Amino acid sequence: MAETATEKLGRARQGLLAEIAREVNDPRILEALGSVLREEFVPEDLRAFAYENRPLPIGYGQTISQPLIVGLMTQALMLHGNEKVLELGTGSGYQAAVLSRLAARVISVERIAPLSEQAAGRLARLGYTNVDVHVARDVLGWPEDAPYDGIIVTAASPEVPMDLLQQLAINGRLVIPVGNRDLQELVRIVKTPEGARRHNLGPCRFVPLLGRSGWPGDTAS
Ligand code: SAH
Repeated sequence: MAETATEKLGRARQGLLAEIAREVNDPRILEALGSVLREEFVPEDLRAFAYENRPLPIGYGQTISQPLIVGLMTQALMLHGNEKVLELGTGSGYQAAVLSRLAARVISVERIAPLSEQAAGRLARLGYTNVDVHVARDVLGWPEDAPYDGIIVTAASPEVPMDLLQQLAINGRLVIPVGNRDLQELVRIVKTPEGARRHNLGPCRFVPLLGRSGWPGDTAS
């Protein structure tokens, strides 16, 4: 009997998880990745590619991140389950859904209003009730709910934004791609009582963070 589209996706999901498991070793992260259906977060016509290990376009010049990078960034946050986490760059809402499985509360901010609305609707429909999605304002991040135990930036920044360090709790972790528009280093900053400690985690490539602390908002996107 011919394989159905759902069976095909299920098999692709298992294959992708096995690939990610070669670099992400925390079983809780793998379980979270396995439980979020990525096909629900990509445009209808790209569902068949949902379990390929690559970013996919989601409209407005933006992308849903590569699954391996989502795993590595999530692992870099070192979550235990009781944290409040801020995400910058909601995009499709996929990373927020993965985080919602590993933290108590997720606040996610997106500068493109239609993407934000789509992601909020999708997350509500799929039952991710501990995620709040907001449209970005002039200030970077979401100071109202600070301090955060973890902050994850899913867009590339030319520098580590001071505004975000200020929204981080003591012993909180900030995971962010830092570099130029073409290539960045994935960086984890731990805010200790003695100051910020930086760990370099490897090269990566993201769409740009635009606006305050990022690149000028009227180019690209
Ligand atoms: N995490 C997303 C992928 C995000 S792509 C997912 O899982 O699908 C990066 C997103 O960051 C884009 O949607 C872009 O519009 C958004 N972005 C760029 N600059 C931003 C800013 N200053 N504040 C909030 N979001 C921003």
